[in-house]
Amino acid sequence: MVEEVARGIYRIGVVLPNNPLKELNSYYIRGEGSGLLIDTGFRCPECQEALEAGLAELGADRAHMDVLATHVHSDHSGMADLFVGKDRCIYMSGIDLAHERQVLNGEIYSQLRERYIKEGFAPGEVDYIQTHNPARMMALPEVTDAFQGVEDGQVLTVGEYRLQAILVPGHTPGNLMLWAEEQGIMFTGDHVLFDITPNITSWTGMRDALGSYLENLERVREYPVRLALPGHRHTGDYRARVEAIQRHHAARLADALRIVEAAPGLTAYEIAGRMSWNIRARSWDEFPLVQKWFAVGECISHLDHLRRRHLVRSEFTAEKWRYWPGEAQDAKA
Ligand SMILES: [Zn+2]
Repeated sequence: MVEEVARGIYRIGVVLPNNPLKELNSYYIRGEGSGLLIDTGFRCPECQEALEAGLAELGADRAHMDVLATHVHSDHSGMADLFVGKDRCIYMSGIDLAHERQVLNGEIYSQLRERYIKEGFAPGEVDYIQTHNPARMMALPEVTDAFQGVEDGQVLTVGEYRLQAILVPGHTPGNLMLWAEEQGIMFTGDHVLFDITPNITSWTGMRDALGSYLENLERVREYPVRLALPGHRHTGDYRARVEAIQRHHAARLADALRIVEAAPGLTAYEIAGRMSWNIRARSWDEFPLVQKWFAVGECISHLDHLRRRHLVRSEFTAEKWRYWPGEAQDAKA
C-alpha cells in the first residue's frame, strides 16, 4: 500500500509478519535525479516483496536511491543494503552504526548474557532467547562500505526538503529523527509513536536509557510539528502525544517503585513479573520467553532511572542484582 503523505513524500506500508507492530512505515522522498528511502523493514521475503512493490508502484529510481535507517532495530535497518543504489549511501547515526558492529562481532551478546543472568534469568533461558529472537534473525548481515554515520544536526537535502538529523538516544543508543523545518514535517522513527508506546529497554553502554529517552522527549516536545511521520501505524497530534508518553512513563516509574517498596530485595526478573503488561498471558510464568526478555529489559530501564534518581538502590547478593527502596549508596556501577 502506497500513499502520498506530503508533496513528494510517500508512505509504503511494509507488512511485518508475526509481529505485534503489524507494519513498518517506510517513506520514499522523491528528489531530482535521486531519492531517499527512510527505513526498510525486516530482512525477510514478505518485507522485501512489499517494499519492492511499493517502490515499483511509485516508479522510484532505485539506481540513484540513498537509504536512511532512523535506528539500528532490524525492522528499520534490516534490508538497507538490498535497496541502496549502486555507489549511493546508507545513512544511520554514527552511534547506532558502532553498536551494529558490536552486535555483529558478538560483543553485545556476551555482555547482555552476563547482565540478564545477573538480573534473574536462568542461563538456559538467555541462550534460548538469543537463538530464537526473530528480530535478530532478520537483521543486517554486515556493515558494508555504503554505510555512513550521521551526526546530530547534520542536514541531508532531497528535492525540496532539507532534513536535519536530530539525535534522540533512548529507544536505541543513537536513535534519529529527521526535521524538515520549512514544511513542519517530523520523521519521528520510533521516538514518538501514536498507537503504541515506544519500547525502552536497557542497552549496554547506556547507564540510564529511560532517562535519556525522557530528556530527548522534552528536548523535541516544542518543535512546531505540523505533520508527524512515525515508524509504525498512524500519525496524530505530535505535542499531545509527546506529553501522553511522558505521563505514561511517570506512571510506570511509580508502579515499579511501588513494587520495590512493597517487596524489597526482588530481582528485575521478579519485579517485571509483578508489573502490568499488555499481553495475552494469564500469568508471568506463561509469558513466552522472548516477551519476558523485552519485559525485563523495559523493567531494568525503569529501575536504572529510579536508581539514578536515588529512589531505588541495588545490591549484588546471592549472585543476583536485587533492588531496594532508598537513598543509601548504590552498589551498581
Ligand atoms: Zn525500534
